[in-house]
Amino acid sequence: MRIVCLAGGIGGARFLRGLRAAAPDAHVTVIGNTGDDITLFGLRVCPDLDTVMYTLGGGIDEEQGWGRAKETYVVKEELAAYGMQPQWFGLGDRDFATHIIRTQMLNAGYPLSQVTEALCDRWRPGVRLIPMTDDPVETHVVIEDERGRRAIHFQEWWVRLRASVPAERIVLVGADEARPAPGVLEAVAEADAVILPPSNPVVSIGTILQIPGIRDAVAAKTVVGVSPIIGGAPVRGMADACLAAIGVETSAQAVLAHYGADLIDGWLVAEEDADVRLPGVRVVARPLIMHDVSAAAEIAGAALSLARELM
Ligand code: GDP
Ligand code: CA
Repeated sequence: MRIVCLAGGIGGARFLRGLRAAAPDAHVTVIGNTGDDITLFGLRVCPDLDTVMYTLGGGIDEEQGWGRAKETYVVKEELAAYGMQPQWFGLGDRDFATHIIRTQMLNAGYPLSQVTEALCDRWRPGVRLIPMTDDPVETHVVIEDERGRRAIHFQEWWVRLRASVPAERIVLVGADEARPAPGVLEAVAEADAVILPPSNPVVSIGTILQIPGIRDAVAAKTVVGVSPIIGGAPVRGMADACLAAIGVETSAQAVLAHYGADLIDGWLVAEEDADVRLPGVRVVARPLIMHDVSAAAEIAGAALSLARELM
């Protein structure tokens, strides 16, 4: 079976690890979100691609869900001792090596998709990981605070402000001119099914779907989504603050309606959301908390069965 998944960071990566366990023979292509990417200290950092790569490659900090296991923060401390800003983004020593190599390759003229492939040579994630685009795009958030109305980088809103200031708008800067990375549309065209893991519907999946051509290509396939919202709340993180910014209620029902029946064919919800309905969509209720790899594999298996039924 050929499967394409659109993935953000933690929710996407944990689901993918389950999918690999549930369907070891499936050919899985992951289209990764690059809207969260940011340049820090001259280095290009791609948090979602790295979370997928480290999680599937066995290098992730399990408890935190992002960053490297057994990490140290000497470089960060030394930068802070020089008064270097920003100090709110956690970059560990091991992680720095990834960003140094990525930046060196980008500066040498390699597109991000080739850089990602090179980094994956080490991590062997067991899936093909492609960034959604090689073009520069960045998610920015319009906020209003004591300094007035302004747009800040998504990471500043998410990590520094912990989404405590309401987002008036969330904008993927550069989206209109961006093209899907080589291999993205081909993988979708060849897929038997597309799965949307329980990634953030706005700043992970929503961002990927904004790259011109991707949404239409995906909508033409059998698409099964896994709800990141259970009983009216995100399982982890602050997806509610992102949904509020686009006027969507934080519920499995509202997220499904937001994606729409033109995109989604099957929707996995938690058992407490079993009453979710949308004409044209098959809704199935299952336990949806990814406590560990085997729980994630159960969820991925359910998504695959639903996709097979609907194919
Ligand atoms: P990020 O880029 O690291 O924020 O990660 P993603 O966008 O891939 O995933 C974030 C989303 O995953 C959040 O909206 C969470 O609600 C969702 N999530 C995290 N853990 C679980 C889980 O165990 N089950 C479900 N259903 N959703 C989860
Ligand atoms: Ca992310």
